[in-house]
Amino acid sequence: MKSFFIFFVIFMSVSISFADYREYDYKASIYSKNYHADMMLLRAMEVDIAGVDYDNKIIDLLLYEEDRVKIRERGYSLQINWSKGVSIDTAVDEEYKTSYEIERFVQTANGLFPSLTKLVEIGKSLEGRSIWALKISDNAAKREIEEPTILFNSMHHAREVMTPEVSLDVIEYLLSNYESDEKVKSWVNNNEIWVVPMLNVDGNNKVWTERALWRKNTRDGHGVDLNRNYPFGWNSCNGSSGSKNADDYRGPEPASEPETRALMGLVEEIKPVFDISYHSYSNLVLYPYGCRNSPGASPQAMIEIGNEIGELLGYRAGTPPELLYQADGGDIDWMLGEHQVIPYVIELNSRSDGFQPDYERTRDKTVELNRKGWMYLLDQLSASGVRGVVRSKNFVNASIRVYKNNELIQNYKINPDGTFHIVLLPGDYHLDFGNKNLDGIYKVKSELINLGDI
Ligand SMILES: [Zn+2]
Repeated sequence: MKSFFIFFVIFMSVSISFADYREYDYKASIYSKNYHADMMLLRAMEVDIAGVDYDNKIIDLLLYEEDRVKIRERGYSLQINWSKGVSIDTAVDEEYKTSYEIERFVQTANGLFPSLTKLVEIGKSLEGRSIWALKISDNAAKREIEEPTILFNSMHHAREVMTPEVSLDVIEYLLSNYESDEKVKSWVNNNEIWVVPMLNVDGNNKVWTERALWRKNTRDGHGVDLNRNYPFGWNSCNGSSGSKNADDYRGPEPASEPETRALMGLVEEIKPVFDISYHSYSNLVLYPYGCRNSPGASPQAMIEIGNEIGELLGYRAGTPPELLYQADGGDIDWMLGEHQVIPYVIELNSRSDGFQPDYERTRDKTVELNRKGWMYLLDQLSASGVRGVVRSKNFVNASIRVYKNNELIQNYKINPDGTFHIVLLPGDYHLDFGNKNLDGIYKVKSELINLGDI
């Protein structure tokens, strides 16, 4: 299996030039006394918030000279961490992957493990690059309807170069340990595991060739923030920008970007039970919703599982408004609000690591730590909840009403293929299928209740 890795070193060829584009002038930090108010003000000023140390209320900013002046005029004192021209922080460590190397990685994995993997091009970027998803399962070529699906995706934001490393580690770990590790074998055999290691392939190319701190895709030069471009709650709570030059520009309309639509198409097809979208940095686990007054419901199981992942990783867990700021048009809101997925954003790495931490010093420890998170979520696929497949033709548009203590807590829509998988905390629930034989009390314990074909 070692050759699986060494292979990629050969394909490293990177040149960096910053000639034509404007780089940030400063990376600076604010030691915030009124964190949420400061966040709101900084967002209103449309400065680029790079990341935070939530516990110490330190906010990192990427600034142009005019931003620095505006912020100083507001009375903030800035600690300048670097100024343009004097820092090595804007150079990407060449060990990180290009979109081409990602492509070679998933093709190699597919070639080495043809029965355990299926490689799918889920779309093409604006510039015509392939966006890849690798499915890992026994009998990977076919959809096994009785198996739950899960999705891991990385790099909505181009500069977050550590994020594909975690997705690639999921692939490498599962495939190389499949034969020797019973736990891995059972995850792979009993589930359909999908990995999208790099969504923003064009933006990543720009990071390597033009701007190391580029975040968006490359739409018309200005780019769109893919993670403000999803249709659920798009532009609904000042959680994104309408200005093309802002780093969180939401795009001209919901799902305007082909990269956004590529991931949406995959989710609509596979209907994952869980998702992790990897971002960096700030050591956070985020779950929906990005808007304080979102119309969607927040399942208690989502909160508890997210908090547990936070505990395992030593990261803070909460919603974007609780831990950062309001954000609209994000993928996790759309996944939960439209597709009942239980989704998380994991913001890898700390302030001291930044967007482009030294590969040698940081990569292995980041991916090893994060195994605890994705492995825990794989375990949750067979943990407390109720699953089954409705074979009757009448299920289309049917839903399952979930009551706890006589209160309706969820109206679960059965998937178009007849599958349902309701993640519930242990307890007694009344499930109303609208069918006398199935309706009744379900005692949910730590193991999944699998009703099979019904
Ligand atoms: Zn991000």
